[in-house]
Amino acid sequence: MTQTTQHLAHLNVLISGASVAGPALALNLARYGARVTVVEKAPALRGGGFAVDFRGHVHRTVLTAMGIRDDVHAHQTHMGRQIVVDADGTPRVDLPAEMMSGDVEILRGDLSRIMYERTKDTVEYVFGDSVATLTQNDGGVDVTFEHGAPRRFDLVVGADGLHSLTRRLVFGDESRYLRFLDHYVAGFALPNHLGLERTGRVYSEPGRAIALGHSGGDPDRAGALLVFRSERLAYDRRDTAAQKKILAERFAGMGWEAPAVLTALENTEDLYFDAIAQIHVDRLVEGRVALLGDAGYGATMGGMGTGAAIVGAYVLAGELALAGGDHRTAFAEYEARIRPFAKGCQKISGNAGPFFAPATERGIRNRDRMYRLLASRPLARFFKRLTEKAATDIRLREYPGCGR
Ligand SMILES: Cc1cc2nc3c(=O)[nH]c(=O)nc-3n(C[C@H](O)[C@H](O)[C@H](O)COP(=O)(O)OP(=O)(O)OC[C@H]3O[C@@H](n4cnc5c(N)ncnc54)[C@H](O)[C@@H]3O)c2cc1C
Repeated sequence: MTQTTQHLAHLNVLISGASVAGPALALNLARYGARVTVVEKAPALRGGGFAVDFRGHVHRTVLTAMGIRDDVHAHQTHMGRQIVVDADGTPRVDLPAEMMSGDVEILRGDLSRIMYERTKDTVEYVFGDSVATLTQNDGGVDVTFEHGAPRRFDLVVGADGLHSLTRRLVFGDESRYLRFLDHYVAGFALPNHLGLERTGRVYSEPGRAIALGHSGGDPDRAGALLVFRSERLAYDRRDTAAQKKILAERFAGMGWEAPAVLTALENTEDLYFDAIAQIHVDRLVEGRVALLGDAGYGATMGGMGTGAAIVGAYVLAGELALAGGDHRTAFAEYEARIRPFAKGCQKISGNAGPFFAPATERGIRNRDRMYRLLASRPLARFFKRLTEKAATDIRLREYPGCGR
């Protein structure tokens, strides 16, 4: 059981971003008595996104120390097998749940809400606003906002995702850090017209793939995941209509359930659309500003980004508590511990694009052959050990109040 302490009662921290990394850090800092403000650009906590998973003893320890392990288990998806199908729906390969879903799988939106609910009475959440400028000096960070009045904080943490504004303002332009991996991914909820029940189907044509899945909850709703291979596209990230248009063009003429998926796409309001990319920064901290989660070491898809964000939040808060709030010591420790760990997770996440959407027919056949091998018992165990190795490749220190 975790305890609340007053190690950081004198500290006033701003976190930019309220998805996974932001609320996770808020929760950890609040346990040490810090005053925390989270600013989120979206007008409310964002739902949506598909399943994210946790695996291995490090994730388990962190979820337990944060006091959310039971809640995460209570909301887990219980996703079953995923089946790779032909254009007419005939199964080609059967992928066992344990290979795809880690030890415990939860919808990103549910995870975010659990941490938000735990912190909303002790942490100040400001929705519908964003940092505009950050100016550091010896005593603190002066922050102006797009809407709210200027304020001063002891520390600022950028947990604002792959396209982090904090990173751009303090560390430099995104083009220096974002490695585009030749694919885009989209996700949204849609009617469960196949009547799937805790299972998924994946269909690929050269350079594009659609996965449909139902992972629990409302039996009438399913999730769609669309992946396509592409050169870099120029589009406005706030313009959902433009993103829908791109998807409609890229998936036009595709077989299997594509026509139904494209019809549902027209009506969706919760579209997630992004490049498959990784973030590689040369440092995670600069003075009183630190990067956390996807902002510092993101990897779209692959299942390790969320675990890395949670572990990062736990270590950052723990190091601050150990150092009595001295950010120089704590940030240096955070950087030294998290960078190699996050790099290992990124390596394993690799590039999910070609797995979903191999570029050629031959590539699809080779992928399916590999899936068949991986789905066999001994190799599935090997695959699990491999991902678990990266997810556990960090020695957690004993932090105040964590009683490990
Ligand atoms: C709606 C949504 C759906 C997602 N769906 C998937 C998915 O299906 N598959 C997948 O692999 N990953 C998905 N992700 C990414 C996934 O959540 C992360 O890879 C991982 O959990 C690490 O989370 P993060 O908090 O570091 O970054 P993110 O989850 O990307 O969160 C960043 C947060 O910062 C906010 N933000 C951005 N700019 C600003 C700003 N200027 N000021 C204030 N706030 C800002 C964003 O609105 C967002 O809430 C999704 C993210 C979101 C927000």
